[in-house]
Amino acid sequence: MRKLSRTNRRFLMRLYEQFWILGRLRTQEGLGILAHRMPAKVVKALPGIRLYAPCNVLGEVISLPCNGEVLIVLHYELESLPQRVVNYVVAHEFAHVVLGHYGADFQYADSSLKHNDKPEEVATDRLVASWGYAASDHPMANDSEAMRREAQEEDRRVWEEVEAERQGRGGVSTDGPAGS
Ligand SMILES: [Zn+2]
Repeated sequence: MRKLSRTNRRFLMRLYEQFWILGRLRTQEGLGILAHRMPAKVVKALPGIRLYAPCNVLGEVISLPCNGEVLIVLHYELESLPQRVVNYVVAHEFAHVVLGHYGADFQYADSSLKHNDKPEEVATDRLVASWGYAASDHPMANDSEAMRREAQEEDRRVWEEVEAERQGRGGVSTDGPAGS
């Protein structure tokens, strides 16, 4: 492929540094091709663009190629999981950062292993355990249907409290303590 103009290279680098794309090979390629085909004049006239590319895993740590920062990706699917599981996933991704599990040099020692059997995942979960997170809150330790029901129950409790407060009953839940 021919060399990119400065404008288009900046355009592409801006896209790459703004959002999670490194694990989305086809999308990344499509943007690269676009940067080669879109005339610089057209690129210059574009407004600032951010793309949102949710990943098919709950969370991911990505090293940005341009400025040395790390991007933590958290999937919108988390919003339909119980809070305790979301707490775990968030901590797990930060633990990956702490352990340096990102960047061009990082590779799983044995990528043929199942996710939770990888030594890096074991080390990450051990670290979050040391921060006080329960292994039983790991999404893979939970049945997905049960997690969805639990999250819906949490939502229902929140709405009941909101409703109770609205009616001046002080937001006291009648079915036991809210949250866990
Ligand atoms: Zn992990």
